[in-house]
Amino acid sequence: MAERAVSALVAFLVALFGWAPLPVDEGSSPGRVVIPIESRSGGGSLPAVTSARGDDPPLVVIDPGHGGRDPGAPAPLAGLQEKDVTLALARVIRDEIARSGRVRVALTREGDRFIPLEGRYEVARRLGADLFISLHADAAPSGEGARGATIYTLSEVASDREAALLAQRENAADTVGGAAMSDDTNVNRILIDLAQRESMEVSTRFALLLRREAGDAFPFHPDWRRFAAFIVLKAPDIPSVLFEAGYLSNPQDVAYLTSQQGRAEIAAGLRRAVEAHFARRFLSGERREPVDIDRGSR
Ligand code: ZN
Repeated sequence: MAERAVSALVAFLVALFGWAPLPVDEGSSPGRVVIPIESRSGGGSLPAVTSARGDDPPLVVIDPGHGGRDPGAPAPLAGLQEKDVTLALARVIRDEIARSGRVRVALTREGDRFIPLEGRYEVARRLGADLFISLHADAAPSGEGARGATIYTLSEVASDREAALLAQRENAADTVGGAAMSDDTNVNRILIDLAQRESMEVSTRFALLLRREAGDAFPFHPDWRRFAAFIVLKAPDIPSVLFEAGYLSNPQDVAYLTSQQGRAEIAAGLRRAVEAHFARRFLSGERREPVDIDRGSR
């Protein structure tokens, strides 16, 4: 088990360098090593977690991209901006996941509020999230042709030029907000790298599962699986994906993303994927609590 291997290696490093014993989270993930990563975004109040079954079910944090003085991509066809489209969609996804009750859910923002990119995954970390989904809707630089959803995961090397440019645009949100970016230079770097590698593997598995569970529910871009260096995906210890629900530069996508039916279909696809993800993590022994998934509701 990769997580066990990481824990063993951590124990070895602790013995080798004489670091203080690391606290082990007794919460949702058995054997999950908590790395004392410095929070750069400070404290602040945490968003509400919606749960039908107490604190036991795993927690997914949905991050509606952009907000406040960072509008994201323009959606002139709908008279909207990306920040409005992502928030409206995130609310429907939250309600869909909450209704089934198998997974706990929280949003990084409930209103039109600016949050720096690191602050977004810091919220997820402070809540003890097991999965992080940053929600976006892109505008294609190439015009109206491109449509459909794309799933991005973290990689320092981008899969293609469009992915690299998108990461550049998304990462510029912090410039808008005036947040400082810095590299982690403390002694926890090795531990962070180990955890990050594990998280990236799980993120990739979730990306494939999301395509499988949601592929029939709503349209995907032909080139639906991409990666780039998105800052918002850099929580070292939380599997994270950036989900581009569609293109705001495409009239069909705009109509779909702003329709009740489109949002409901996307929400249902994401819910199935999230529940299947945690059910699989439980079956493989990586989680303690079972997640009963309802295959009948497809
Ligand atoms: Zn965006």
